[in-house]
Amino acid sequence: MRVLLTGGSGFIGSHIAILLLERGFDVVILDSFVNSSPNVIIRIKKYLDNKDLNYKLETINGDIRDKKILDKIFIDCIKENKPINTVIHLAGLKSVYESLSNPLHYWDVNVFGTLNLLLTMKEYECYSLVFSSSATIYGLSDSVPMAEDHTISPINPYGKTKVAIENMFYDLYNSNLNSWKICSLRYFNPVGAHPSGLIGEDPIGIPNNLFPFITQVAIGTQKLLNIYGDDWGTRDGTGIRDYIHIIDLAEGHLASIDYFNSTESCLEFINLGSGKGYSVFQIIRQFELSTGRKIPFSIQDRRDGDVAKSFADISKAKKLLGWTPKRSLEQICLDGWNWQIKNPHGYG
Ligand code: NAD
Ligand code: UDP
Repeated sequence: MRVLLTGGSGFIGSHIAILLLERGFDVVILDSFVNSSPNVIIRIKKYLDNKDLNYKLETINGDIRDKKILDKIFIDCIKENKPINTVIHLAGLKSVYESLSNPLHYWDVNVFGTLNLLLTMKEYECYSLVFSSSATIYGLSDSVPMAEDHTISPINPYGKTKVAIENMFYDLYNSNLNSWKICSLRYFNPVGAHPSGLIGEDPIGIPNNLFPFITQVAIGTQKLLNIYGDDWGTRDGTGIRDYIHIIDLAEGHLASIDYFNSTESCLEFINLGSGKGYSVFQIIRQFELSTGRKIPFSIQDRRDGDVAKSFADISKAKKLLGWTPKRSLEQICLDGWNWQIKNPHGYG
């Protein structure tokens, strides 16, 4: 089977790429490298070569908004007698902050880019899609755990683009014209890294998210962690989130493809998280315990747009996909630290 993996050079995509190739899928990565390094592809190959695996990986440097590139990928694969069977679509922009100052760019890349992809898939009769949605669509609510039927109320342009895309899926699926198989996976907080230490998260500039910030404090790139509020209505006053090991998250995509093989047609919205909530203080404590590094911090005001608690009800993913997250918070800290210490400057 051949999979088109858009955004395959990014944090999440690179981990999915390795799993797909290990499982024997042919993979075509389409990435514009606006938020990732071409070195990621070298690392993926290095990992597979070290394992002496036979694999077929092709990488195309291009933009999902470019119809000609998409056409060429699908046509070339058909000519090779190995058409694209499934698309895993991760290419897009993900910064909440940037989406507030440049919303049209977010609508263009995320929504128009996805529309372009769907049009191309339809044209070349590829009807299976796994998509990267986000828990951010649940908005400011902190009624936890959050199931998929939770109210959808995004509070920023980034989240609104994810909702628009999910709405596009509804309309497409309900048109009943083709037997689409779509899993829109709503990620909670993917963290950690590949246990090999060869690939991991490499944010450009100062990290916005807690976990990469902590590893950068531990390695000395950042002086101290600013904690955004210790007066939330939680057990220790700091914000609670659902941190899921990146490999567990990646496995959810493979499980979605397996699920496609057992169904004629589907449109499913599915949470992927650990199903557990941890506070900022708990994360710091576990990181210090697992790595022996001290994380100095300073308490600051709350950050705009934050909620007290967010964690997933993952019973749907367990039941429908037969998927379950296996890796502990300790494993997350160990793997994340292993990546950071082996790559103090990320991909360089
Ligand atoms: P990432 O930025 O590391 O990866 C996205 C990849 O897409 C990058 O390699 C980037 O170069 C590429 N890309 C961006 N615009 C493109 C375009 N127009 N054409 C082709 N390639 C393009 O982000 P990630 O963390 O791996 O996230 C992947 C997806 O998952 C995104 O859609 C994101 O919104 C979604 N998501 C991420 C998180 C998270 O916390 N990381 C949470 C929920 C949802
Ligand atoms: N957080 C923090 N300092 C940081 C980054 C994040 O205290 O430098 C807190 C944030 O307020 C939230 C939690 O850590 O309670 C997770 O934040 P992150 O940005 O990683 O995830 P999100 O809020 O987008 O789910």
